[in-house]
Amino acid sequence: MKQVYNFSAGPAMLPKSVLKTAQAEMLDFNGSGMSVMELSHRSKWFIDILEAAEANLRKLLDIPDNYHVLFLQGGASQQFAMVPMNLMVRNKKADYVLTGSWSKKAYKEAQLFGEVRVVGEDTNNHIPKLTKDMFDPNADYVHITTNNTIEGTAFSTLPDTGDVPLVADMSSNILSTPIDVSKFGLIYAGAQKNIGPAGLTIVIIRDDLVGQAPATVPTMFNYETHVKNKSSFNTPPTYSIYIAKLVFDWLLDLGGLEEMERLNRAKADLLYQALDESKLFDAPIKGEDRSIMNVPFIAANGDQELEAKFISEAKAAGLETLKGHRSVGGMRASIYNAMPLAGVEALVDFIKKFEESNQ
Ligand SMILES: *Cc1c(COP(=O)(O)O)cnc(C)c1O
Repeated sequence: MKQVYNFSAGPAMLPKSVLKTAQAEMLDFNGSGMSVMELSHRSKWFIDILEAAEANLRKLLDIPDNYHVLFLQGGASQQFAMVPMNLMVRNKKADYVLTGSWSKKAYKEAQLFGEVRVVGEDTNNHIPKLTKDMFDPNADYVHITTNNTIEGTAFSTLPDTGDVPLVADMSSNILSTPIDVSKFGLIYAGAQKNIGPAGLTIVIIRDDLVGQAPATVPTMFNYETHVKNKSSFNTPPTYSIYIAKLVFDWLLDLGGLEEMERLNRAKADLLYQALDESKLFDAPIKGEDRSIMNVPFIAANGDQELEAKFISEAKAAGLETLKGHRSVGGMRASIYNAMPLAGVEALVDFIKKFEESNQ
């Protein structure tokens, strides 16, 4: 079987052991004689999976009891609308911090529902310094993107928004380090980067933010529907939830998020060090704003032919999907939780060899 290391930004690598478990259980889940894909979402088999997935996620993130965990569909992009539809209701205004393409999309969508203000400078290559006085105390919430998947920046500290609920798109760094959930009003993440297959979106929402949506909000777009029906108002993405549950098991077995953070930092340090030492390549994001999940880099002299050569030779060497996002070009190595240290070591070796033969 062909073995590669997949640096895709999403859908991304999953732990091999998770895929093997899924393979072993494919035709007969837990003595049911059926695949998880064939189980009724009302069956005890599936309800057990859903409950275990939630319990595992609560354990991993130490989620307080006054937060609900929802397993939804529609991707993070649907949350760009659901968040304002449900939360921008009291004063009909919100503050958005723009740090990259995804936050801009969230901002654009929110403008459909009320008065949206940009806080901090609009920047693509660093995280702005944010102080409490910059936020509107009457805003219904403040929205941030904790990790900017395309640009390769991440918040190293959270902004203090006072009593205004902090809402975070964590699609590309959820579960990469421990977080203090109590600092947030709502967290959302598409699963396909650090959790499981596409088709599943996780929402963690504080109790008091549920049930505020106006009556004009459609049933499926109202968080309250999904809270009341334990994510099973309609058919949830059952197979994606099952794989997510296996990924949560894998993280718990590994030692939880402190251990995951240690591994992630070791991987990121190794790669950034190689890029910082390289004469051929440059990692444009500097210092504390560097993401430990998505590492963009470019040819230091801007030579796009050299970049194309690097990407195609890397692919031939089993280092898959290193092309940067179409909006920024260059290269990007996404090194999510499931990327083993050996994958980053292989990439670093390849960078060094490529540099030697292309001086
Ligand atoms: C990938 C990504 C999205 C879009 O996710 P979908 O699930 O495809 O809608 C949004 N925000 C961030 C930060 C992302 O990385």
